[in-house]
Amino acid sequence: MADTALTMDKIVSLAKRRGFVFQSSEIYGGLSGAWDYGPQGVELKNRIARFWWKEMTQLHDNIVGIDAAILMHPRVWHASGHVENFTDPLVDCKKCKARFRADQIPPENLAAKKCPECGGELTETRKFNLMFKTTLGPVEDESGIVYLRPETAQGIYVNFKNVQQSNRMKIPFGIAQVGKAFRNEIVTKNFIFRTCEFEQMEMQFFVKPGTDMEWFEYWREQRWNYYRKLGIDMDKLRWHQHGPDELAHYAKVAYDIEFEFPMGFKELEGVHNRSDYDLSRHQQFSGKDMQYIDQDNGNERYIPNIIETSAGLTRQLLMLLCDAYEEQKVADKGNEDDWRTVLHFHPEVAPITVAVLPLMKKDGLAELAQDIRAELKEDFVTDYDQSGAIGRRYRRQDEVGTPFCVTIDYQTKEDGTVTLRDRDSMLQERLPRARISEYVRQKIKDYKRAERNL
Ligand code: ATP
Repeated sequence: MADTALTMDKIVSLAKRRGFVFQSSEIYGGLSGAWDYGPQGVELKNRIARFWWKEMTQLHDNIVGIDAAILMHPRVWHASGHVENFTDPLVDCKKCKARFRADQIPPENLAAKKCPECGGELTETRKFNLMFKTTLGPVEDESGIVYLRPETAQGIYVNFKNVQQSNRMKIPFGIAQVGKAFRNEIVTKNFIFRTCEFEQMEMQFFVKPGTDMEWFEYWREQRWNYYRKLGIDMDKLRWHQHGPDELAHYAKVAYDIEFEFPMGFKELEGVHNRSDYDLSRHQQFSGKDMQYIDQDNGNERYIPNIIETSAGLTRQLLMLLCDAYEEQKVADKGNEDDWRTVLHFHPEVAPITVAVLPLMKKDGLAELAQDIRAELKEDFVTDYDQSGAIGRRYRRQDEVGTPFCVTIDYQTKEDGTVTLRDRDSMLQERLPRARISEYVRQKIKDYKRAERNL
């Protein structure tokens, strides 16, 4: 019996082999905390972002999007509390030079100042700010200091009035954004789980004070259902409520959705009730009025409360790789062909939707297949593969999670029908080439998560 248990090593190796994720600057030995997304990785990432965007904007009449700059006025980070509070406790080992987050090593090691790796002496704990600093303009002095944003949320808060007024938004309403964020993380490990450069998908929902807890519960439910829609194994998800010592400086109540990664349950996204902290602080620091004027209610003025849903895009990509992965026994011939590695992605996020495969290169089958691909590529991301045995080609598509393979054979030449193979069931159906698009679209709509062995 082969060991089919999921490990991070298997994911890292598949991700590299199949063009999802590469180490940054690999030929120079790599850079810790940074990763590059390959041809399949970038498709998957864009599609997850698209799936989230549709869910959060298109399907909610009262949510609109923005795309703010990564560089913001430095006062933003004073107002937000990041300059003062966005720190992690850091300790170093004087002997082996290993560096740790003090809150992530066993308390007994911290108390005895003993390195958990080599037993050497640890330094005092010191606070380390996670923001990357750089300078704007040619003079490198204090006056030019700017930060790479450590979260996308602040770009939304500072645009609250612009969006509300330009789009005549009425409370309750939300603003969504997907973009890069940077944190100088002390320890980056577990592949793309925690990196220094990553992407977030955040939505900030502005509500009337007093209705915040109701909306908080609403968003918890929405975000939970999102993962069901994405076809994730719901047994691998759980809620974690922040206790009093975990609550961030801005938060009133905070829950995380955690996913069971190979290294255990870890945070996937946060749903936070941030009260009126953010807009009050920006009002105080900028001197600009951040109140909402409720014209339907006698021009009542108030600073809205904010419910935030904050998800990591790159972390969600890792979740999808882990959740989709299966080593499945598909035959009993006693050789390596008995097994396939398959990624059961939801077809809406799979990097390639349809692969077109001519059974043979000769007898005009390749030309016919190219012709069919040309028709399909207007509607779907397609791939074309004519090299090697057909079984091997199916396996290659399974490994990148392609949900549909269209095979062109001799019968196609005669009657214009093709076979369509379903990734999860591996069943094949014959249908006229003119019906492929419509059929695939319907299959995507009807998609149900496949049972797994794992
Ligand atoms: P932690 O305490 O683990 O450092 P956090 O609670 O500070 O994380 P948030 O500030 O709530 O994280 O960020 C929201 C989301 O952004 C997280 O749920 C995660 O998905 C993502 N995220 C945060 N930091 C990173 C990172 N360094 N690399 C990848 N994704 C991240």
